Amino acid sequence: MLSVRRPAAGEKNREDSEFMREEEIHQQCEPEEGLHEECGVFGMYDLDGKDVAAPIYYGLFALQHRGQESCGIAVSDTNGPKGKVISHKGMGLVNEVFVDGTLEALKGDIGVGHVRYSTAGASTRENAQPLVLNYVKGTLGLAHNGNLINANELRHELEYSGAIFQTTIDTEVIAYHIARERIGSRNVEEAVLKAMKKIKGAYSLVVMSPRKLIGARDPFGFKPLCIGKRDNAWIITSETCALETLGAEYVRDVEPGEVVAITRDGISSDKSMCIPKEQHARCIFEYIYFARPDSHIDGVSVYGSRIKAGRFLAMDSPVEADLVVGVPESGNAAALGYSLQSGIPYGSAFVKNSYVGRTFIKPKQSNRESSVKIKLNVLREAVAGKRVIMIDDSIVRGTTSDRIVKMLRDAGATEVHMRVSSPPFLWPCYFGTDVPARDQLIACNRSVEEIRQIIGADSLGYLRLERLREMVNGLEICTGCFTGKYPMEPPTEDIRGDYDA
Ligand code: SF4
Repeated sequence: MLSVRRPAAGEKNREDSEFMREEEIHQQCEPEEGLHEECGVFGMYDLDGKDVAAPIYYGLFALQHRGQESCGIAVSDTNGPKGKVISHKGMGLVNEVFVDGTLEALKGDIGVGHVRYSTAGASTRENAQPLVLNYVKGTLGLAHNGNLINANELRHELEYSGAIFQTTIDTEVIAYHIARERIGSRNVEEAVLKAMKKIKGAYSLVVMSPRKLIGARDPFGFKPLCIGKRDNAWIITSETCALETLGAEYVRDVEPGEVVAITRDGISSDKSMCIPKEQHARCIFEYIYFARPDSHIDGVSVYGSRIKAGRFLAMDSPVEADLVVGVPESGNAAALGYSLQSGIPYGSAFVKNSYVGRTFIKPKQSNRESSVKIKLNVLREAVAGKRVIMIDDSIVRGTTSDRIVKMLRDAGATEVHMRVSSPPFLWPCYFGTDVPARDQLIACNRSVEEIRQIIGADSLGYLRLERLREMVNGLEICTGCFTGKYPMEPPTEDIRGDYDA
């Protein structure tokens, strides 16, 4: 029987037989109940010429919640020969990949970094980012968060014109387009803009050219991207929590459709791809679940929006109870909001095993162990004899919710009322979140009462769809996975998992 062991911190990733092949590991992963983000990006350019690898490393650390499968950093020296990029990437967490002096070897004052989660079958070292591409004008380093919906089409087009792909990620399609457009463009930012006219879908990009750091966000603004500054160094990254970690000041968000370029002369911006703000479609799950609560996205606090969601649940789905608890981590702030609104005491009911990542791998030989129990234990003393309101961010397949409800009952809770800080999932996502196909969604073709019966709760309430925009102070959002109305025509074939971000 194969034993599954991931390289521990301090060990090098090895390709020999000691560790299972990546595909085998994936075959053994049970489908997880929760949602997954697909990546975090971090770019930095120090105009004083200081090395950026260490701050990028700490930035990626702060973004680790956005992807735990692989990570990487690519750096270049803007004073050195054009086209010399040093990079290091690998499978695993940031502190597993950058060991044994790898970070110290990355010398350069400009760089990009990436943490990745993939949806299906393509979790390999080749697909780890940043991508580094050599072409006639020098070298590009690219890190991407999001999913293109026309990657298949563009890829086939490129392949027919002679392109040979090294990876199965749509980021390479973007990189190829930028490189091609660069030939006939005045500068790399113009090439990025031309590439943006061809690619469709969700993308927040950081691009390193030999002398420039570029940030670009798709016109709908699906994924976050913000700008920060520390001393004389500029940063472009997915979340403001990474700026805080570095002690950098938040400058502003990159606007949906905007391209920003950082050079020795400072920062410039092009908004020719921006669309009217009424058409923006930020992924609401950044606020509900993905982003760290200490981040702000487009001026709205993630923590504050979760508190609001909890307050709305208390207003719209009230119930008498003795205690409100959140399923860690993203359910906690919503539970606090529910408590503040209802006056029912807030408490902790769960102890989370902090050493189990979001991409927990379950060995075959321990199939009897529930992965929920491995991640979470109930504090019996906190819930015994009480009527408990339990708040979670979402119900996808329902397999985790029923186990958690049962765990609370087994620990002595007399009633368990479940409240969900998002509306029911009814449709898949094509823009970078692994909401599965409709037939796997518990809410598809079932009433709330039927779902309540399946998960075994005493009552069940979801956040109302109309509350989503209120939750984010009226920002324009995407609600595709709840309504089936996507901000752009979804692909006719299921592209999810074909080419990953
Ligand atoms: S469909 Fe849902 S998960 Fe996907 S981008 Fe829109 S809000 Fe986010």
